[in-house]
Amino acid sequence: MRRRRFLEMLAGSAAFGLLRPLRPSAAGAAAPGRVRPGDPGWPGEAAWKALSEQVQGRLLKVDSPLEQSNPELVKRMKNPYFIGDQVWGTQSSGWAGAWTSSPSAYAVAAKDAADVAAAVTFARMHRLRLVVKGGGHSYQGTSNAPDSLLVWTRAMETATLHDAFIPKGCEGKVEPEHAVSLGAGTLWFHAYDAVTTRGGRYVQGGGCMTVGVPGLVLGGGFGSFSKRYGMAAASMLEAEVVTADGAVRAVNACSDPDLFWALKGGGGSTFGVVTRLTLRTHELPSTFGAVLMTLKADSDAAFKKLLRRFVAFYASSLMNPHWGEQVRLHPTNRMEVQMLFEGLDRDQAEHLWRPFLAEIEKPGSGITVAGDRTVAVAPARDFWNPQFLQAHFGPYVRADDRPSSPPFKNLWWASNEEELGAYWHGYESTWLPASLLAPARQEALVNALFASSRHWTVGLHFNKGLAGAPPEAIQAARDTCTTPAVLDAFALAIVAGSGPPVYPGVTGHEPDPVEARNDAQHIHAAMAELRKLTPQPASYVLESNYFESKWQRAFWGSNYARLRRIKKKYDPDGLFFVHHGVGSEEWSPDGMTRLRT
Ligand SMILES: Cc1cc2nc3c(=O)[nH]c(=O)nc-3n(C[C@H](O)[C@H](O)[C@H](O)COP(=O)(O)OP(=O)(O)OC[C@H]3O[C@@H](n4cnc5c(N)ncnc54)[C@H](O)[C@@H]3O)c2cc1C
Repeated sequence: MRRRRFLEMLAGSAAFGLLRPLRPSAAGAAAPGRVRPGDPGWPGEAAWKALSEQVQGRLLKVDSPLEQSNPELVKRMKNPYFIGDQVWGTQSSGWAGAWTSSPSAYAVAAKDAADVAAAVTFARMHRLRLVVKGGGHSYQGTSNAPDSLLVWTRAMETATLHDAFIPKGCEGKVEPEHAVSLGAGTLWFHAYDAVTTRGGRYVQGGGCMTVGVPGLVLGGGFGSFSKRYGMAAASMLEAEVVTADGAVRAVNACSDPDLFWALKGGGGSTFGVVTRLTLRTHELPSTFGAVLMTLKADSDAAFKKLLRRFVAFYASSLMNPHWGEQVRLHPTNRMEVQMLFEGLDRDQAEHLWRPFLAEIEKPGSGITVAGDRTVAVAPARDFWNPQFLQAHFGPYVRADDRPSSPPFKNLWWASNEEELGAYWHGYESTWLPASLLAPARQEALVNALFASSRHWTVGLHFNKGLAGAPPEAIQAARDTCTTPAVLDAFALAIVAGSGPPVYPGVTGHEPDPVEARNDAQHIHAAMAELRKLTPQPASYVLESNYFESKWQRAFWGSNYARLRRIKKKYDPDGLFFVHHGVGSEEWSPDGMTRLRT
């Protein structure tokens, strides 16, 4: 059906009362709301058929087979690519007291921007709850909602490299740059394989291979080497976006500077559906590598000593563009070191760590290296090369073993395996300012880390704070809408815990509310020790607490007021709603009823 006739038909159905503009509020007064299946305003068969024709049959009625007990299916849920290929699937299964993964009523398995525009227009005209899903990794559950229409972008996987990209309308105003355009359904591993393995360049994305490109970039985005290259959002040059009015826009610093800025960290599914992103690429360094080991202290005093030494070592030797990723501090007085580096060879990496290790391994220190100490190095171009990874880093990667999966296409890091299907009991984060590394404050930091790690495992993600990054990476991040706290944070501290997957209806996969509550209390207590050091809440929207009370301030700080204005301009009716997204305070928690404008 031609687009114009379709829109006329929709308008006609409104005139005959098939569209329902207002929904009674609990108080009885008419308040604008969305419709659910069974409500009088829910679109009829004819309307769905018309949408299906417009998207050439790519409209799916969604049911989750997980709703019946199905042990075979549950086994396959341990493969993130399998989950990503299911219209009803999400990578986390839920979060206690917050959300449980639920299929939409219908989905458009979009192939291009026209499909997305058709879905957006349909949802707006019929007052449907609209959801967007790419890689399905949202911790907050923002890519699933019952009774919704889903725009599912997974099929929109493309990667085109440019040697001299100029955003539309910026001709003569900016220098051409090396860039890559990635379709909305592209996963980061496939983006890296295209840009690095085949293209010999670097693009800033995420650490986890199966996260979706726009989902990460729209929230800010940090990867293992962000201390060198900065936030992923800061490298955005242009976004093709379908806005709430159904228009397909090429958004960049010249065409729509406000919207462009809001897309750089303002959160997914808030200002529109991104159908393609163009990101700056960089020259590759010579190497990427890792230092991996577990240090064990035999007493609380020895663990404190280890923390003291490590904090000083980090401040003097690691807080620079070469070093990212994390250490994890366990209540059992163990420190797991999983640091990644770029641009150094094995000798340089080993040389750097030698004095620290010599000091802590002195006889009588009470600290030992448990198990192996590994320094692994790869030519940067091979770091995401599937053949190379399987040949040389076999224990660190997993492969999609479905017969339908092409060989050497779908890999993921083994370290992300424990999160598959996770049902979160708690997840909290805070940015830690670099001022805590000043010699006079290091002892306070050590004490807080020690106190925190008594309650739960604490992860320090050094690549997710920009202190120590090159000035150009910091400057580019300053021009995003993420809270300025990220600029001088040396790390993002994450404290999180989950239980086994919860699949309603599947025997043996019920939630355990008592354990969940218990874990959440410990996680909260651990984070409270760190937040004593950082009285202003500041955390990373994509990896934060679902129950964060001061979320506007925590995620966007002083940028929030401007984001609200941009939201009102481009989405005045709040078509795009996500939990704790910009403008979500105007809606009921399920996004179905507008509370105020
Ligand atoms: C195992 C794991 C590892 C992670 N590692 C990292 C990491 O290393 N660095 C980091 O920064 N983050 C990391 N994250 C967080 C991750 O970046 C976010 O959860 C991200 O939003 C996921 O994007 P997605 O497309 O995979 O997920 P989805 O759940 O599909 O999408 C996330 C949000 O973005 C919206 N969205 C998706 N596609 C579009 C689009 N095309 N247009 C508009 N909105 C869209 C969705 O509606 C949803 O609100 C990790 C998460 C997990 C589960």
